[in-house]
Amino acid sequence: MLDIKFIKTDNPKPIPGPENPLVFGTIFTDHMFVMDYTEGKGWHDPRIEPYAPISLEPSAMVFHYGQEMFEGLKAYKTDDGRILMFRPDKNIERANNSNRRLMIPEIQAEDFLQAMKELVRAEQAWIPAKEGTSLYIRPFVIATDPFLGVRPSYTYKFMIILSPVGAYYPEGLDPVKIWIEDEYVRAVRGGIGEAKTGGNYAASLAAQMKAHEEGYSQVLWLDGVERKYIEEVGAMNIFFKIDGTVVTPQLNGSILPGVTRRTCVELCKSWGIPVEERKVSVEELEKAARTGALEEVWGSGTAAVISPVGHLRYEDEVFQIGDGGIGELSQRLYDTVTGIQLGRVEDTFGWTVEVK
Ligand SMILES: *Cc1c(COP(=O)(O)O)cnc(C)c1O
Repeated sequence: MLDIKFIKTDNPKPIPGPENPLVFGTIFTDHMFVMDYTEGKGWHDPRIEPYAPISLEPSAMVFHYGQEMFEGLKAYKTDDGRILMFRPDKNIERANNSNRRLMIPEIQAEDFLQAMKELVRAEQAWIPAKEGTSLYIRPFVIATDPFLGVRPSYTYKFMIILSPVGAYYPEGLDPVKIWIEDEYVRAVRGGIGEAKTGGNYAASLAAQMKAHEEGYSQVLWLDGVERKYIEEVGAMNIFFKIDGTVVTPQLNGSILPGVTRRTCVELCKSWGIPVEERKVSVEELEKAARTGALEEVWGSGTAAVISPVGHLRYEDEVFQIGDGGIGELSQRLYDTVTGIQLGRVEDTFGWTVEVK
């Protein structure tokens, strides 16, 4: 158990009302969680303090060599006023996998969960109640040694900030257009693709801008070696329903193992739908699209939960999926996952954790 010190703000901010669109990642609550790490001493001084700028030396290692990891999950308010988090144990497990890959000291799972719960509890007035809204939780660790040499840092800061977010699709699930990138790659096996870390996002920006210029909202990455097999979308994993079977790229070391991905796989299996985690080539998709076997395509991630894909572009070809609306299975997954998150569908898997 952490003994978390609470330093309350003297300056509470106005909490956004239901008219506020809550654009993702723009508004932060009054407090944040901070805990420091020092070699030899371990993690220490856990505290919840006023949300404010932090002071670091310009030589702090995170600015130069990118030793950092982050997570993303949400807290939801149920109709009967309870607060639920969705599978936080999976985010914590992944955070420590990222930590190990990046030589960042691990954080005890119980401490991590306690820190998120205490912060969310302290800030519960900020959890928006309107349909589709939630409180986004962003835990992260940064390397803070003032040193320009290359080695793992001896000191770190673990922080958690919270941000109320609006409905991802205020007008209902709207299929997105996706650009299959054949020039840039996001990650290669053996690299840091399976860690949730800023460097992967820095690597993705050039392709994202290229896709935006072409009128596409997201990039679908191919494997970094042959550029033949599908990996994942910007911040989502990807699923295809081909001839009644759900297919998703297998976790191969360069794909980020999404919690929503795992949830989709487990739900489909529980419904008796065949699921294959394996290599999927662009060629296979091309053929499936041509013969009409490509029934549905969707992305999975914490932000949108399920994001139907209506249109894929690869070089000069366009694959149109279905009739441009949301597929039946995509809708069923969306309704079930969001239903469990909001306490409206019975949580037979024990996925939700209540913040009391
Ligand atoms: C976070 C993330 C995902 C989705 O993971 P979830 O746990 O489902 O939110 C997928 N791809 C990348 C690159 C990510 O950073």
